[in-house]
Amino acid sequence: MSSGTQQRGGVPVMVLKEGSQRTTGADARRSNIMAAKVIAEILSTSLGPRGMDKMLIDAFGDVTITGDGAAILKEMEVQHPAAKLLIEVAKAQDAEVGDGTTTAVVLAGRLLELAEELLDEGIHPTIIIDGYKKAMDYAIQVANEIAQPINVEDKNQLALVAMNSLSSKIVAEARDYLAKIAVDASAIAVEKIGDKYNLDLDWIKIEKKKGQSLFETQLIQGIVLDKEVVHPGMPKRVVNAKIAVLDAPLEIEKPEWTTKISVSSPQQIKAFLEEESNILKSYVDKLAEIGANVVITQKGIDEVAQHYLAKKGIMAVRRVKRSDIEKLAKATGAKIVTSIKDIRPEDLGTAGLVEERKVGEEKMVFVEQCPNPRAVTILLRGAADRILDEAERSMQDALHVIRDLYREPKIVPGGGAFEMEIARRLREWGRKLPGKEQLAVLKFAEALEHIPTILALTAGLDPVDAIAELRRRHDAGEVDAGVDVLSGKVANMAKINVVDPLLVKTHVIRSAAEAAIMILRIDDIVAAAQTKT
Ligand code: ADP
Repeated sequence: MSSGTQQRGGVPVMVLKEGSQRTTGADARRSNIMAAKVIAEILSTSLGPRGMDKMLIDAFGDVTITGDGAAILKEMEVQHPAAKLLIEVAKAQDAEVGDGTTTAVVLAGRLLELAEELLDEGIHPTIIIDGYKKAMDYAIQVANEIAQPINVEDKNQLALVAMNSLSSKIVAEARDYLAKIAVDASAIAVEKIGDKYNLDLDWIKIEKKKGQSLFETQLIQGIVLDKEVVHPGMPKRVVNAKIAVLDAPLEIEKPEWTTKISVSSPQQIKAFLEEESNILKSYVDKLAEIGANVVITQKGIDEVAQHYLAKKGIMAVRRVKRSDIEKLAKATGAKIVTSIKDIRPEDLGTAGLVEERKVGEEKMVFVEQCPNPRAVTILLRGAADRILDEAERSMQDALHVIRDLYREPKIVPGGGAFEMEIARRLREWGRKLPGKEQLAVLKFAEALEHIPTILALTAGLDPVDAIAELRRRHDAGEVDAGVDVLSGKVANMAKINVVDPLLVKTHVIRSAAEAAIMILRIDDIVAAAQTKT
């Protein structure tokens, strides 16, 4: 009998749709834990600066090589619902604080693995869940206690923290340089409200262009468009630009349906073309009349319109991405106009300089000296697409770390030191708790130690010796003792400047614990029959 069928008075009653699969109780839980463990295991070898990269091949055969946890998860296609859940949690972590994804998944996996040991000893899942919840709250409290304040006005301090997130091997050689650019960009984009800071990363645009090396990466105060000026007869440099930012074509749009126009004489064709040309000319006249000397549109610009614009000395750029159009509008104070007929002088944005410049082999358009001084572009350069892609991911991580520091200017020691200290304090505290809950708290502490264990492994250390030394040093009061992955020894993390934002770490603990709890709570999996496509 299928698990979806119930017997009643000898008559089978179908509750679930034919073909549905149901797994219950311990089986459901174990299957979920197993799936989460697999995901955690895949990610664990990518943790830290000596972590391994993954080669991911999507359904179209495109290859991505990365060591970034969030990127790996994004590309991975998983089937199991619990694995999907874990990936969702990791993505949420990435969206919220932009870092700590790998750590969160690895920690969640280990929490579940250790919960399984307790389940094997006959401890009820609700007791484990309660214990994990208490441990999570206490861990976050301790995290706040051990965190140290930093001064976000000091760019050197920010750069030192940001550098840790640029440890991907591909960009490692240029980390000092890129960290400085990330900090400078953030300092331009950040807004100070009272004694609080708000860094909206939308202000920071990242453009990529092939070049000789990452060291050619530049910071531009303003917006850079990966586009050329459309017509050779147009100016390439406009000072005191008045910019029309359009979401409207400067061409006669083709109808969506195939249409036939019957003409009976050559004059009619001529009249027809002239009419088109007149409409385009009227658009250009209108733009010139309101004083625009630069036109930037999301849509196309017809050759005839290009010609008229050139004659009027107007610079024009077409087919600009929607996101760039929005950034331009914000930076220049322009209103995005959808109907050229209705454009008014006050819709125009301004910029001190708009110029087409050669970057490597290609041309790009630079919009500089914008009225809103927060707009900034990081123009990444690198010798290959893969380097540029990884540099962009790392740069995003660094920017997120800086944003986290502006939000909460506090740091904790990295390299597993933070996790070791929390584990130590959890054990001390947990021993005072009654009964079986205590066991769950102790497992939580053990799970945290998994992070330094993996870092030790990637550093080529014996993990058992490393953890023993770390425990000893933390017991002796050295809160900053962690694994110096790059030189392969246990060391004081504050001294070598391996530190992480508090915000990332408290999020990691919360995401990991909540994911583990969510998965432990499930005791019934009902899967609908797969619909055939
Ligand atoms: P995540 O996606 O979780 O941020 P990462 O691969 O970026 O994962 O690894 C982050 C971990 O690596 C943090 O615990 C951080 O403290 C640690 N880490 C970074 N740089 C170093 C270093 N030089 N030595 C030791 N640990 C480091």
